[in-house]
Parts: sequence; structure tokens; C-alpha cells
Amino acid sequence: MSANPFESALHQLKRVNAVRAFNADLLARLSVPEREVRVSIPVKMDGGSIHVFEGYRVQHSSVRGPYKGGIRFHENANIDEVRALAFWMTLKCAVANLPMGGGKGGVVADPKKLSKTELERLSRGFVERLYPVLGPTVDVPAPDVNTTPEIMAWMSDEYAKLTGDTSGAAFTGKPLSHGGSEGRSLATGMGGYFVFEALKQEASLPASASVLIQGMGNVGGNAAKIFESHGHRIIAISDSHGGVCNEKGLNIAEVEAYKKEHATLKGFPGGKNISNAELLELPCDVLIPSALEHQITKANAARINAKMVLELANGPTTPEADDMLFERGIVVVPDILANAGGVIVSTFEWEHNLKGEHWTEQIVFEKLQKILSQQAEIIFKYSKDLKTDLRRGAFAVALERLDI
Ligand code: GLU
Repeated sequence: MSANPFESALHQLKRVNAVRAFNADLLARLSVPEREVRVSIPVKMDGGSIHVFEGYRVQHSSVRGPYKGGIRFHENANIDEVRALAFWMTLKCAVANLPMGGGKGGVVADPKKLSKTELERLSRGFVERLYPVLGPTVDVPAPDVNTTPEIMAWMSDEYAKLTGDTSGAAFTGKPLSHGGSEGRSLATGMGGYFVFEALKQEASLPASASVLIQGMGNVGGNAAKIFESHGHRIIAISDSHGGVCNEKGLNIAEVEAYKKEHATLKGFPGGKNISNAELLELPCDVLIPSALEHQITKANAARINAKMVLELANGPTTPEADDMLFERGIVVVPDILANAGGVIVSTFEWEHNLKGEHWTEQIVFEKLQKILSQQAEIIFKYSKDLKTDLRRGAFAVALERLDI
């Protein structure tokens, strides 16, 4: 299997079709995005020179509604990755039964190397290039890896300036002050927790589970706090450079404070430093990949020592690794279900902006939990009926909803 995430995505389609045959026209349609746009974004750097960044927006499917999905800023972003991520958004929105299609954006940039003003110019430049193909009824971007509510506010503001549309509904994941939804920042981690709650009996997990979290961005960091606050033990967590582990359980507030002060987890006094590769293989009840694609592959799947893998990242497990984990009885809760909390609350935000409504955090999370526990149950039953894994079950449910 190549390291091309879009090939993995197509392989996943074949895998599900082998257990439940779908209409060939549907599969052919989903195998190619409806539209791909590649842009160059000239940005004036603080020193006065111009740097031209490369960006993409892939609009995979609008069968169920406007394209929906985040924009990632990453130095290794590339069109194959964005294409795969857009494909998974189509499936994810169908799994959550949202009136949304799938899209994704990417910019080849490391935001850590940019000043705040450069980052703002890059964010606005992305919209300047793409606004003709965005909009509340066309394509509604949101945050993803390395993009924040502040970036969404700049993008939303730029969109309003260029089009005169001040509804705010062209971007989600905005700060509350710019029409954002309560609970949106916590939503992916919280949604992951609700899905875990709905499926935990399946993996016979103890009341207080030991948890590994790869990634300390918005998703991994919030998941760590949410699982810890519900009495689970976070025995290891990492950022892109490496992690820290402590079998007795880490204090996540202390880990975060240390990282904030030292900009690294190296030398954290409350645990032992480990690499990201080591983290994935530690014995635990729940492994939560919350970073990038292709982390669990045929090279390490035999050594994964978890009862459940809860995919809060998109595409962390390759199809070959999926088969190996399934044979070993490890329950893999697929990304298109496990991390759907983000796009669900994004869709609430989009609706609110269009209707001028605002819900409390309590209502947002009640509605989120209802959707995710219902869909988790449907997918669980479907995978049992097909005698297959939850990924194929989730794909099958999504494909039925896309066959319209
Ligand atoms: N980037 C998130 C995802 O991969 C959220 C997308 C959204 O809110 O539209 O699901």
C-alpha cells in the first residue's frame, strides 16, 4: 500500500464493497472529486518580500448539500492528502446524517514559522483566491490541523468584504464573538467521548480506562481533558516531536502548562519521554490517534496493544492495518464516526448564522450526544449484520445515504 491517503480511501471503498455490494455508478462517482482548485497565494512577509504559498480546495461531493470541511495549514499538505480528506468528509457528513457534502482545503505552510500578521495575510489571501467557489450554499470551510477560530474569523471577514454576505455562514469554527457556536472548540473531543461511551461495551473496557493520545492540538488536547475529567487515566500523550508517559496517569493541566512554558514535552518532570512510535505501541485500553494520517500501518499494527482504537485524527489507520487489527479483535472506531463531532457542531453554527439563532453549550452537547449515540448504534448493528468491522459498517451506512 502506498503512502498516498487517497489510494487508501479508494481501497476502503473496495473493502466495503466486498462485504455489501453497492451500485457501481455510485462508487465511480465517489472515486473522483467533483472539483479541485489549486491556487497560489502571494503573501507580503514582514521583511517586505513576497512569498508565494500553494493552496488547494477539493470539493468532493455535493450530493447531500454544500461542500463542508476544514482547511489545514501544514508544510506537508498536498493534493492527494486534501483529496482523501475531502472524500472522508463526504462520508462523515453522511454518517452524521447532515445536509452537507464533503470538501477540504490545504495550504502548504508551517504556521509556527509565520508571524501573526503574515498568518492573517495568508488566511485572507486564501479566501481572496477562492471566494468565487465558496459560500453558505456552495462550500463552507472550517478549522482543521493548525487552523484556529481566529483564522476562521479573518477568513469570514475577508469573505464578507469581498461578497457583501455578512451572515457569517460561509465559515464555521469562528470565535463566539464572530458568530461561532458554543462548544465548537470542544466538539471533536466531546463527540469522540460520546462515541466511546456508546461503544465501550463492545471492547469490554473497565470503568476507568487507560488511554494513549497521539497529538496535542485542539482535538487531542481537549480529548485528554475530557477523558481525564470522566475518570480515565491518560497514560501517555505527545506532540509532533514526541511524547511523555506515566503508567499511573498524567495530570493533563500540568502537561499543558509545561508545554506552554517550554514549547516542548522534553524534560517534563511528571513522566518519561517517549517517541511517537513508542507511544502507539504501549499497552492500554484505548488508543486515540489525534494527529495525522497513516500512523497505524502494516509495519506496527501487529504491535498495537490496545483494546480499542478511537480515531480522532482523519485516516490514521491504513486498510492493511485495519484488517490486521480486526483479526486480532481490536475494535477500531473509524474517523468518520469518532471525529464527526466537529462537523456536527459546525453544521449547527452554519444553521444558526443563517437563521440568526444561538444555542447554549448544554443544548449543543445534548443534541451532539443524541446524534452520535444514535448513529453509533446504527453502525454497530450494521457491522454485526454484515459480520464485519465498524469502518465497513460506517461506510455502508454512509454509502446508502449517498445513493440518492
Ligand atoms: N476539520 C474537521 C474534520 O475533519 C471539521 C470540519 C468541519 O467542521 O467542517 O471533520
